[in-house]
Amino acid sequence: MNAVHEGGCLCGSIRYRTAGEPVRATACHCNDCQTRTGSAFAVLLAFPDQHVEFSGFQLTVYEHRSDESGRWIRNHFCGQCGSTVMLTIERNQTLRIISAGTLDDTSWFGIDRHIWTRSAQHWMSFPPDAVKFEQAFST
Ligand SMILES: [Zn+2]
Ligand SMILES: [Zn+2]
Repeated sequence: MNAVHEGGCLCGSIRYRTAGEPVRATACHCNDCQTRTGSAFAVLLAFPDQHVEFSGFQLTVYEHRSDESGRWIRNHFCGQCGSTVMLTIERNQTLRIISAGTLDDTSWFGIDRHIWTRSAQHWMSFPPDAVKFEQAFST
């Protein structure tokens, strides 16, 4: 299955296409994701780097170091409208991790797991069958 999906930033300066299924689909409740998104959690779809193709403006990059691991996480965002469309991580540099809310169509994927649930907002309620990790999922 090699379905192509498209997405982009709020202002449309940056567009991308993904090919195939994500290797993992995660809801991340860590404090860093809450701060950088201004939301309760980030929905992250990880693809092999050769399965994501960008067009339009150049992405702006902000590198942050995790307090927990000391490793870098790079936010790749639109310099015009500020939408973070992708993350890359030091731990696995062959992944392009798409911010799922930037997809044009979000109906085709589900979430495999919730991570960093120990810092989830107190009103968060998880589906009964949710796969949850208190901290990072390590593979
Ligand atoms: Zn934009
Ligand atoms: Zn996170």
